[in-house]
Amino acid sequence: MPLLKKQGMPKMKPRKIPLRRCTGCMMMLNKNSLIRVVKTKSGEFSLDFSGKKSGRGAYICPDLSCFNLAKKQRGLEKSFKEQVPVTVYEKLSDELNKNGS
Ligand SMILES: [Zn+2]
Repeated sequence: MPLLKKQGMPKMKPRKIPLRRCTGCMMMLNKNSLIRVVKTKSGEFSLDFSGKKSGRGAYICPDLSCFNLAKKQRGLEKSFKEQVPVTVYEKLSDELNKNGS
């Protein structure tokens, strides 16, 4: 009898995790753990928590220090190659403050 167990603990073989660069700390991280800022075709910026909105995206850690870094280095502007509205930063910081404390 073959005793190969098909069920049970799956081998923890690392699956290919989609990595994205945080615009703050510049680290490559699992995109699921990052906040996505997306610019839609119509030119509107929004935060995308589902990761499903279509458009051009930039990523940032849900971390205030990354946010501050991104702001300082204009990381979002660099990603989108254009001005990012202040409201995007405001939304982001709202979100981070909500999560933080
Ligand atoms: Zn980061």
